[in-house]
Amino acid sequence: MKALVVSQRLSDAGELVAVARRFGEPAILAFQESALKVEEVAAYGHRVYRVRSDRPEALYRAAASLYESLNPKVIVGPSVKNVKDAMALLAGSLDIPLITEVVELSDGGSVLTYKRGFMSERVTMTAEVPYPAIALLNPKIVKPAEKAGRGEVVDFDVGDLKVNVVGVRAKELSGVKLEEAEVVVGVGRGFKSREDLNLAFELAKILGAQVGGTRPIATDFKWLPEDAWIGISGKRIAPKLYIAVGVSGAPQHMSGVSGSKVIVAVNKDKSAPIFIQADYGVVADLYKFLPILTSKLREKLPRRA
Ligand SMILES: Cc1cc2nc3c(=O)[nH]c(=O)nc-3n(C[C@H](O)[C@H](O)[C@H](O)COP(=O)(O)OP(=O)(O)OC[C@H]3O[C@@H](n4cnc5c(N)ncnc54)[C@H](O)[C@@H]3O)c2cc1C
Repeated sequence: MKALVVSQRLSDAGELVAVARRFGEPAILAFQESALKVEEVAAYGHRVYRVRSDRPEALYRAAASLYESLNPKVIVGPSVKNVKDAMALLAGSLDIPLITEVVELSDGGSVLTYKRGFMSERVTMTAEVPYPAIALLNPKIVKPAEKAGRGEVVDFDVGDLKVNVVGVRAKELSGVKLEEAEVVVGVGRGFKSREDLNLAFELAKILGAQVGGTRPIATDFKWLPEDAWIGISGKRIAPKLYIAVGVSGAPQHMSGVSGSKVIVAVNKDKSAPIFIQADYGVVADLYKFLPILTSKLREKLPRRA
């Protein structure tokens, strides 16, 4: 046994198995959703260890125990949050490399060779790590493996978990589809209060635009729902017009708006980094500028007002 596959979704199980087969006969640790449809995972013809839990702690425990008994050369899994959390624990406890967002993986003899993107996928890096290693893959990188008979299914007991989940609450979502909007008004920490965002909402109403924001506006202040946050770790937008108001232009934000046709920035600091990428820049206090802009547009675009 040369590889261990961590599978939590049926949608990419076949791809992970195909990659793992490059390193020899794999075993599969079926976790979460795929654990419920374990027969389909077993149809790839390899032994499946079923964990009846969806918690990263359970995955970590099962993977740590299987690592000890199976001694895999490589562990492959999907590059998704639960698996990343569990594999970070495993890599730390074993002191072995963990690589994420991998788009290509191959056996380089004495090393594991991989490719991954960085700088918002603008650059692809090729690198090597020593075996053993954990590689978490992005989906759709290879053709799924052929199914090959029925592998044995073994139930894996992880025992009592230390973390006891006492409640689960759904995120507050606006349902706003920023990715589809033609015009987006983006709000940043230049706004002093939640009520002041009305200045942006009024402008958006006149323009038929959607309102999104920077990460701190959604996560730290919670002035906008989480699905209205734009950037590398939020939504990527590609409107015809993006108007950024009181936004400094941090790279993590700008990578989410790089698909915009025209970027207009309103910022009171003339050296704000956003002016480097903006097509049009307005150096002004948003509290003075937005009411004037909205009222002028209201005169020009009376039908939307
Ligand atoms: C791992 C990681 C991931 C991240 N992902 C994201 C992400 O996906 N999206 C994201 O947005 N951020 C993300 N961030 C945070 C990012 O680095 C910045 O901290 C954030 O984008 C800054 O938000 P801001 O522009 O609202 O605030 P600030 O940087 O504080 O900028 C506020 C701006 O408002 C201007 N201003 C102040 N008062 C006025 C006024 N009256 N009129 C006009 N202008 C005014 C200031 O001059 C300043 O330029 C991430 C950070 C990390 C570490």
